[in-house]
Amino acid sequence: MRMLIENARILTMNENMDEHLTGWIVIEDNLITALGSGAFEKAGQLFDEIVDAGGDLIMPGMVNTHCHMSMTMFRGLGEDVDDRLFRYILPLEREAVTPDVVRIGAQLAALEMMLGGVTTTADMYYFEREVGRVLDGAGMRGVVGQSLANFAAPDHTSFDEGFALVDALRDEFAGHERIIASIAPHAPYSTGPAIMARVAQYVADNPSVKIQMHLAEMKSEMEWCATHHGCRPVELADRAGILQEGAIMAHCLEITPAEIELMAERGITVAHNARSNAKAGRGIAPVEAMRKAGLSVGLATDGPMSGNTLDIFAQMAPASLFAKLLGGSRACLPAQEVVKMATIEAAAVLGMSDMIGSLAEGKRADLIRISLDAPHLLPIYDIYAALVFSAAASDVRDVLVNGVWLVKNRVSLTVEREKVMREAAQCAAAFRSKISQIDGVN
Ligand SMILES: [Zn+2]
Repeated sequence: MRMLIENARILTMNENMDEHLTGWIVIEDNLITALGSGAFEKAGQLFDEIVDAGGDLIMPGMVNTHCHMSMTMFRGLGEDVDDRLFRYILPLEREAVTPDVVRIGAQLAALEMMLGGVTTTADMYYFEREVGRVLDGAGMRGVVGQSLANFAAPDHTSFDEGFALVDALRDEFAGHERIIASIAPHAPYSTGPAIMARVAQYVADNPSVKIQMHLAEMKSEMEWCATHHGCRPVELADRAGILQEGAIMAHCLEITPAEIELMAERGITVAHNARSNAKAGRGIAPVEAMRKAGLSVGLATDGPMSGNTLDIFAQMAPASLFAKLLGGSRACLPAQEVVKMATIEAAAVLGMSDMIGSLAEGKRADLIRISLDAPHLLPIYDIYAALVFSAAASDVRDVLVNGVWLVKNRVSLTVEREKVMREAAQCAAAFRSKISQIDGVN
């Protein structure tokens, strides 16, 4: 398969941040084999497909560094209720989250993400094989993490059972081109130091399996750590050996400058969930300090229960705005840096920056086409500012992953939209009756 995309405005996100106001890209099978400025000389060249981008923007597919896809089924439930986790979510997870519910929720999430230009996601939840299968079927890339937790998880009643689920996930996706198995201890307070140490040992024995965990996310976690272990979460995680090179840590809100230095030394990476953190009233992660220390920080949506949307565009402005609020200056976290955190830096967070995250020869053909022909995008003096502060997921027109079109003209080609939405609505109806029961008895 040989494809040419021409007449495109190209944002490469490469080391030099090269842009081509009018440019072209050649794709052979799943790889970008050439790209450049101006008009492509087609004489004597054979292509299976030629795409005239008509001046639209072509940029790398966006990467979501932290998500719980199947929690689409909890979107908007119990909003503005402080104890909603214990009142609704945990009882519903225990009772109602089955492999089918995970599959249905993940399908809806995959559809939402691909239509919004997200081509790769990290995910952590239960029955995670279902999530891996959904992402595979959708043609997306993913780091899929089997969650381990000591609160009655829907798919394991002991950590031994949880580790067996990680084994199954690892075996199912061994050597897969787009799906990477991961182990996801939920958080320090929901696993404890012994299980975190066991996870560290598991990864030493299975180097292809990545770690994902929530870390230093909230005040109650700080209190639990101080009360039970006389230290802070970063120290506890480090003592357990879990802060390993390439481990993905989500949130990282409650951290000191010394902890940032330690995290950078250990080579972990950070998933930044600006919207979901703000919505829970938790605070602002010190993104600029972490990046200054050399940590890769990628944008993330968190689960749709916490952040409501799986749309990376919706994360970009808040990430910049909150950094400006924290730093007290308009100059904090400029738009170009935010777009990096949605693409090449997010790819680095997932350990995939040699494959994806920028448009360059030899990289996988993961790219999106954004229509710039919209009133809210005119004029464009700074393309990065337009993407961060003006563009929306609905501006995404086409999506290519690994050389295969997932979306064309805003229509999903790999996920059956009507069927997925119908199944999700049926699932939500079942949830609704359980919610009425909870409200009735409480
Ligand atoms: Zn999360």
